[in-house]
Formats: sequence, structure tokens, C-alpha cells
Amino acid sequence: MKTGEYVKLETKDGRHLQGLVMKSTDVNIISLKLDSGYNIGIDRKKVKSSKVLKQNNIACVKKLQKVDFDKKLKTVTILHTGGTVASRVSYKTGAVAPSFKPEELVEMFPELSNVVNVKSKLIGNMFSEDLRFSHWNKMAKEIEKELKEVDGIILTQGTDNLGLTACALSFVLENLNKPVLLVGSQRSSDRPSSDAAINLTCAANFIAKTDFNEVGICMHARSDDEGCYILPGCKTKKLHTSRRDAFKAVNSKPIAFVTKEGNVSFLEKYHKKDHHDRLRLRLFKENLKIGILKAHPNMFAFEIKNCSKYDGLVLEGTGLAGNFPINKVDVKTQEHKLISNELKKLAKKIPVVVTSNCIFGRINMNVYDTGRNMQDIGIIGNYSDMITETAFIKLAWLLSNYDKKKVKDLFMEDFRGEISKRTEFEEEFV
Ligand code: ASP
Repeated sequence: MKTGEYVKLETKDGRHLQGLVMKSTDVNIISLKLDSGYNIGIDRKKVKSSKVLKQNNIACVKKLQKVDFDKKLKTVTILHTGGTVASRVSYKTGAVAPSFKPEELVEMFPELSNVVNVKSKLIGNMFSEDLRFSHWNKMAKEIEKELKEVDGIILTQGTDNLGLTACALSFVLENLNKPVLLVGSQRSSDRPSSDAAINLTCAANFIAKTDFNEVGICMHARSDDEGCYILPGCKTKKLHTSRRDAFKAVNSKPIAFVTKEGNVSFLEKYHKKDHHDRLRLRLFKENLKIGILKAHPNMFAFEIKNCSKYDGLVLEGTGLAGNFPINKVDVKTQEHKLISNELKKLAKKIPVVVTSNCIFGRINMNVYDTGRNMQDIGIIGNYSDMITETAFIKLAWLLSNYDKKKVKDLFMEDFRGEISKRTEFEEEFV
């Protein structure tokens, strides 16, 4: 079987597959693009029989080797940072490791070049759990450089922190006037069920067909394979470990739906942002220390004390007010007085902001005594509907770019759509 041939094959375990043979970087693996658009890697040893249905499809091979520039199409740079989308399964260990070169990844999805002219650049090769502020600064600098020449950016990354990167870039890229879409995949690109192809082609189509000029996320919309949602940069969370439709808008709606055929429908009226000023990078201070502390039963004051080295702290409390255990209600809760004292001390030194473990909904610290007392202690974030990750990034970005004294007021100002005006998304919660 040669690259570019359209083949039919049967595996020893009885599977019948049909598709286009792609260039494979491993001689033992046949890389097949199925009619569904999915790419699959098949161990040569497991093939029982094969038949070439169409001889070397010259046009296709040519396309794999060289993508011609089409003046009628927009040009997009795919910036690769690693993650499952750029990974393959090691058939020796069964583990997934980042291993595709950018050119290979583009070659794996030749359908992209029917939609946009593709430039491709590797700027990192890591899983997203290892991200630091410096990586976001680097991504922003690369985006700024590329946007001088192209119409949009697709940034591929591991999914664990895809929402955080989208949020971080939303803040850093001030006056952005072109689209920056983040794409990951929950299953590696060489698996039959990989979502990489659909996510990437939907992102390319969305850039090609709209004048969207913000940071967004393009990921599988539902459990079917019909298409992707474009999700807001600062209000999206990965809510499932393994499902392909893991990403959901929180206290917000998806911006648009893109079918796998490339049809776009906006879910709300979309107003393009007009910026009179030029793109400006407002980067993170790379040595800044921001913490996240989660409330839990049987908490101790030393847990707060341990946070004294931070420059800013997010408290992920419980329920409506983002409650922390600060009430001494009986002899068994004496520790809570100490917790309250430690929080008060800390809030005098650094900005301490609150979010809720509920994920959905808005903070209201006025309803119960605990919330009122937390406000008295100096904890901020009343009426915020930001998820913990967004609060973390916003706090880091504010402390990187503004005087520390101003951060308390600025935290509740909406900069990038991170705080919604009203809670009108209750119906989204099912
Ligand atoms: N842990 C991986 C990461 O976030 C998962 C993935 O690649 O999607 O990079």
C-alpha cells in the first residue's frame, strides 16, 4: 500500500476499513484517512488482506507534499504547542506521547488546505499541565508576530489547560483584531475516534467564513460528530475527563456552531469588536505567585498561613457566597476563629478573591452572615460569576499590569467578557 492509494482492508480481528493511505512516519503503521474524515493508525501485522480500490491518487499525493497558496483563501498560521492533538499512541507502550511535527499534522488533515492557506509553526512540544506564565507570554509574542502576515491563528494545545490559555491570551492580547482559535483533542490524532480532524477543520472554516476577531475555543460540540462549538475565551471549562464534548461555556453561551461540513451559525447576534488602537501585548510578570485554595471541611488555619508567600490568592469557597469555614459555632469549631484571623491578615497584605465550587452561577456574599463576614475581612469578588480558573488568570494579569492598590477595584470590572452582566444562563444548566 502506497501513500495516496485508496484502499480497502480487513484486519485479523475482523474489522473492514476503507480509506486513503496517508504518509506514515512509522514503517510498521499504516496511516489511513477513513471516509468519515478520521485518521487511523493500523499495525501492519494486524492486516489480514488489502485491496487497492483506486491507484495512486496523484492529486492527493501532490496535496500532501505541497500545499499551493490560493489567493482567494484566507491564510492561517497553526501554532503548535504539543498535547494530545499532536500525539500518537505508542503501539509498544500504549501511552500517548507528543510526536507529530507540524508539517505531519497538516499533512494528516489535507482537507484544511481546501478551506484556508495553512502555515505551520512549532513553538512548543509539551502537555499543558506543565504550562507556566512564561509560556503564555511566548504564545502571545508568536501570535503578534504571525498576525502581521496572516488572517488568523489556530493554536493547538493539550486540553487540560486549554480554557486557561484561551483566557490568558484574551487578557494579554489587547485590541486583538483578528481571530485566535484554540484547538485541542481529547483523543490522539491517530485514533479512529480522534476529534482532532473535526476540531481543526471547524476552526479553519470559522476563520474562513466569519469576521470574528477575538480569542475563542473550537471543540466538539456534542456527543455526535456533527460539529464544534466556538466557545468564549474567558468563560469555558473542561468538564469531562475523556468525552470529546468536554468543553462547556459556563455562565455564558457558545458563540457559534460550526458543522463538520463548514457551515457556521452564530447562536447569538455577534457584534464584531472594533478597536481603534493597535494590538498591544500586556504580558504576565513571570515571577508572580498566585495561589488557589479550596475550602473543605476540617480545615486548619495553617493552610491559610501557608499562603503568605503569594502575591494574590483565589479562595474557591462553597455555595452561593464562596463560603469559608470562619464561624465558631461550638467547641469543635474553635479553629475557625483562627482561620478567620489568618484570612484577615492575608487580605491586608495581598488581594484575596473568592469563587464558588458550584462552577455555575454568581457569587452573592450578602445573603448569609458568612459572606458578609468574609467581605468585612477584606475578601473581594462579590457578584462575580467567573470560574476559579478565570479569577486566577485575571488576578495574575491585573497584578502584572496594574498597581497592586488598584487591583481590588479592577477585579470586578469587566475587561474581556469574563464577567457577564446578568445571570441569564440558568437554562443552560442541565
Ligand atoms: N494532559 C494533556 C494536556 O493537557 C491532555 C491533552 O493533551 O489533551 O496536555
